[in-house]
Amino acid sequence: MPNVSPFHDWKIADATPTRNQTVGVLALQGDFSEHIKILRLFGVNAIEIRKPEQLRDLNGLIMPGGESTTFAKLADAFGLIEPLRAFCNSGKPVWGTCAGMIFLAKDIGRAQPTLGVMDIKVKRNAFGRQLESFEMDLQIPALAQIGANGTNQPFHAIFIRAPLIESVGKNVDVLAKLDDGTIVAARQNNLLATSFHPELTRDPRLHRYFLQMLSKGVA
Ligand code: GLN
Repeated sequence: MPNVSPFHDWKIADATPTRNQTVGVLALQGDFSEHIKILRLFGVNAIEIRKPEQLRDLNGLIMPGGESTTFAKLADAFGLIEPLRAFCNSGKPVWGTCAGMIFLAKDIGRAQPTLGVMDIKVKRNAFGRQLESFEMDLQIPALAQIGANGTNQPFHAIFIRAPLIESVGKNVDVLAKLDDGTIVAARQNNLLATSFHPELTRDPRLHRYFLQMLSKGVA
């Protein structure tokens, strides 16, 4: 296991002003239940989203890892494309991990439907196939205030048939890069995107960062 504080070291519920907030996790396909488990550790009311009307009372939304082509097909079938787009444009925090990041992107270099709300150019399956999945420790300066005791330990990132961010628009901040300069995490106001899967590690700092976006208000 990576050398980071496991969940039981965190006074999660005490430290988070986001108790009683409601965060939806798009639950059409993919690893939505892992996100939900972590959100609940923070005392957040986490719900699975499959219908447009469920978006109405959310304070924030996560789109998980999975298969972005399947997200697009099912979101279309469930009448979710426009409501999701409107939610992203409402200023409430939205976080896409891996396939969720692809789904947020304006440009993925091919004719595959996405929400097209985040000004990033993404390359799908950029590191190869499933066998080329990998893990690595990343420096994420934005987490400096979130680590236990204010330290900024590296974030152990799991990449599974992961996309990379080829370029970002001028309103987008780069949050993390691989050693070779490849962008793997970015933020545009209320929109957060990571190529990797923080929901599959025992390090809750990125979830906490996202929940701080809720409490700070980022519209
Ligand atoms: N390769 C997948 C896609 O294109 C994403 C993989 C993942 O979410 N782990 O949607």
